[in-house]
Amino acid sequence: MSDNKRNGSAAGKGYYIALILCAAAIGITSYVYYRNDKAQEKVSIQETQEELVAGTMAAEDVPVLATQPQKTKPAPTQAPAAATTAPTEKQPLKTAAPVSGEAITGFSMEALSYNQTTRDWRVHNGVDYAAEPGTAVCAAADGKVYTVYEDDAMGCTVVIRHTDGYTTKYSSLSADVPVKAGDTVTMGQTIGYAGDTAIVETTLGTHVHFSVTAQDEPMDPLEFLALG
Ligand SMILES: [Zn+2]
Repeated sequence: MSDNKRNGSAAGKGYYIALILCAAAIGITSYVYYRNDKAQEKVSIQETQEELVAGTMAAEDVPVLATQPQKTKPAPTQAPAAATTAPTEKQPLKTAAPVSGEAITGFSMEALSYNQTTRDWRVHNGVDYAAEPGTAVCAAADGKVYTVYEDDAMGCTVVIRHTDGYTTKYSSLSADVPVKAGDTVTMGQTIGYAGDTAIVETTLGTHVHFSVTAQDEPMDPLEFLALG
């Protein structure tokens, strides 16, 4: 029996120790939670304050951003207006007769005309100007010498290319041509001399056969000279 009592009192002691330990554990746990709650509270207060500061800064920035685009808006509307006030006008090609002599045969591509030299009817793609031997022949417009060559039918020939697709050709020149392919020439500049080298037009005597093409199509030289 005494053993049972001793055992019972020992068991009672153990129960109280366990109860104390449990109470201590609960106390410690509660304290830790309390500390954590305090720390989180502090953080959330700081965050709220920072949000408030950021909010006031953003509010201050808004009016500045709102006024800037309004100040810069008128600039784009002024730029196109200035561009339209300075248009670039294209200058028309200026032209002048290659010699001051009389036109003895006219341009005739629509109807055949009788050729005294070949004694047949044929088209005539240019204008023949009578001229004294050695008379200077001038460029009819500003341009660039495309080629200088001896044509089987039309004799010594100079070809000049101009802007807007125009080409002028000067034939029946004497052999002493003062220009060469690639030379830049200006209107009125001497590019050759009147001769009698066109074997299909020898009956005309010394003269200049002047022809023009526009976009590679034959054009009445008088119309070309009427340009300017
Ligand atoms: Zn001719």
